[in-house]
Amino acid sequence: MKQSVKMIVGNWKMNGVAADLAGAVAEMLADLQQNPASARVGLCPPATLIERMARIIDGGPIMVGGQDCRVEQKGAYTGGVSAEMLVDAGARAVILGHSERRQEFGEIDALVSQKVGAALRAGLTPIVCVGETLAQREAGQAVSVVRDQILGSLNDGLAGRDWALAYEPVWAIGTGLTPTLDQIAEIHAAARDAMIERLREGGRAAPILYGGSVNPGNARDILAVDEVGGALVGGASLKAADFLAIIRAA
Ligand code: PEP
Repeated sequence: MKQSVKMIVGNWKMNGVAADLAGAVAEMLADLQQNPASARVGLCPPATLIERMARIIDGGPIMVGGQDCRVEQKGAYTGGVSAEMLVDAGARAVILGHSERRQEFGEIDALVSQKVGAALRAGLTPIVCVGETLAQREAGQAVSVVRDQILGSLNDGLAGRDWALAYEPVWAIGTGLTPTLDQIAEIHAAARDAMIERLREGGRAAPILYGGSVNPGNARDILAVDEVGGALVGGASLKAADFLAIIRAA
């Protein structure tokens, strides 16, 4: 299924300080206000910048998002940030189950599914990440790994809500490597099947973003692949010119 309005989301990870709001974000905002994008655009800075970024954007053409949330609403969870706190700071979306959280913090599908529930409870747009490792791809398991992650990480509450899946092969994140367009098409088609298997009709509408070394040079081709409904962009979203070029390719 071709989606007409693509979704382009930047993941700043643990990068960005106030100076980047005055620099990159101001530049992105000015460009998008002058020449509106045909894509829906989001930026997910570290939690420390969410409120200030949301104030600068002030309802403008960039949706601000978090990079994770806890399942609980509040309580004795030192260092934790709840979905409700993200909303309070001005976020409207949240990335969940990113491979860096799965690998470094041991997040498993069942926890990601609970976090999706928390995001929905708070009214956030969840962006749920899945993707195989290089070893899994080399073992011929990419499709089955992604299917299992989708079945385990989604949440019944997603049906009828605004959300996105992001297919991010772990070996393509931050490496400059990307799958072939055929490999992307294969996984996105399998991902759609799994979304429908899990949510029935509720799995048809959400866009499936591709993520992993998207840059201004490869964005147009990747975004033209069947069932690629947008992109989740790491490194290239830190530079206004690169992120804007990807947005304009959508
Ligand atoms: C990411 O971390 O979600 C990502 C896609 O990173 P990069 O674009 O830098 O590969």
